[in-house]
Amino acid sequence: MKKLLFLLLIPFVGFTQNIDELFLERGEVNFSFEYKNKNQLNDISDIVSIDHKTNTELAYAYANKKEFSEFLKLGIDYKIIPKKIISYKNGSKNNWDYYPTYEEYVDMMIAFADSFPDICKLHNLGTLNSGKEILIVQISDNVGQKENEPSFLYTSSMHGDELAGYILSLRLIDYILNGYNNNTRLTELVNEIDIWINPLANPDGAYYGGNQDVWSAIRYNSNWVDLNRNYPDPEDGSHPDGNPYQEETNIFLGLADTVNFTISANMHGGAEVCNYPWDTWSNLTADDNWWQYVSQEYADSCQTNSGNGYFNYLNDGITNGWDWYSVAGGRQDYMNYFKHCRELTLELSDNKTPNPNDLPALWDANYPSLLNYIEQSLYGIRGIVTDSITGNPIKAKVEITNHDVDSSHVYSNLPIGNYHRYLYQGNYSLTYSKNGYYPKTINATILNNDIVIEDVQLLPFGNTNSISEIATSKSNKIINIDILGRESKANKIKLLKTKKGTIKKKITIN
Ligand SMILES: [Zn+2]
Repeated sequence: MKKLLFLLLIPFVGFTQNIDELFLERGEVNFSFEYKNKNQLNDISDIVSIDHKTNTELAYAYANKKEFSEFLKLGIDYKIIPKKIISYKNGSKNNWDYYPTYEEYVDMMIAFADSFPDICKLHNLGTLNSGKEILIVQISDNVGQKENEPSFLYTSSMHGDELAGYILSLRLIDYILNGYNNNTRLTELVNEIDIWINPLANPDGAYYGGNQDVWSAIRYNSNWVDLNRNYPDPEDGSHPDGNPYQEETNIFLGLADTVNFTISANMHGGAEVCNYPWDTWSNLTADDNWWQYVSQEYADSCQTNSGNGYFNYLNDGITNGWDWYSVAGGRQDYMNYFKHCRELTLELSDNKTPNPNDLPALWDANYPSLLNYIEQSLYGIRGIVTDSITGNPIKAKVEITNHDVDSSHVYSNLPIGNYHRYLYQGNYSLTYSKNGYYPKTINATILNNDIVIEDVQLLPFGNTNSISEIATSKSNKIINIDILGRESKANKIKLLKTKKGTIKKKITIN
């Protein structure tokens, strides 16, 4: 699906252009410039929005008027890429070679929930000033009821003109719903996972030219803000772009606070590559090998199911975000750092708004990968953390010794107490802790694409009557070590196991 993109771009050298003229029709401008090195590109990335098309020689970028004025001060040569509005011939809804009108989109989302009420719920996450809605469907058995399941999120097109994922998301919803009870794998995914899909995160951008079509779509939102620079950032803090959080951003911040997503992907376009964290800094994540594994799984399956050079950009279809170009205020890093969710960025098509004719081939190439990634949410080490006295689920921190860094630990979530820790195969030592409880450490061995269940009970401080329970639990040796924090004490506990009265005293030392 490589397009003859460069032939379509008619470059203009921009020195003499009047900045006001550039922004007459639209509040954003697309341009390219040569950059000398990574440091320079990263500095410029703080001023304008570096685009996904950026390669090793040439940077592509977007800017609003204020951002572009700042860029001009750098005195760097640039070329304006004129906005080319192509009114493609839409195919048909039934063949999915079609972009719906805004109203058709809303009707489709309503129809999904109406047609499959047992497994699909439609949520309006918020109505924008424009009146357009940010919609999401939730798909699961017992939909809307909290269960011991990971919550998975796909969201697309926060850059309003990057629309392959918009249609793929709609088609994915349709495919999963219709596959339920007809296709074993899809049935299992619906039964075991709480799946959320938001096909259109920036409807004002996508339908900038009017509700009838997406041919005039823009990257930014209606305030000319890049939504993928508008999130709190691990390195740069609040408001890294200097703008207030936009309506769209607040809606997603609220969603991420409400649903404890364990794994997610954010769909973009302009390249064909999986971009994994971090975007903001050069630090590698604790789970860099897991990220490479799941990213490569995504890319490999796309390559296998297309066979025409699709999805092989950069490092065979995957890249570390910062290695490509740094981004401050991106949603990926926000979700990973602040919400302990594993989110990657999918760049689904070189052509940001693909010809509708190309959408079925994009589906064929991507849907096995989209399902594989949903399935990853089931894998890793998972279980339920409870209070060993009451049996009630608790929100505990799950941290991996000599491994976790930069907020890579996770938490068990209420009301179920379930946690999901995705890991590359290996041996790990996990510590479960919560204020008011004795921490507990267990060792676990995990293989890729495999599930290890570790339900853990934590003993609250001040309890002295549950020693026999601890002593007989499956990981008792390790529990003992953790109760007193030192191995010598743990040995003491083992010795004292038969003398309950003495144990009580030892326990209360803590
Ligand atoms: Zn994008």
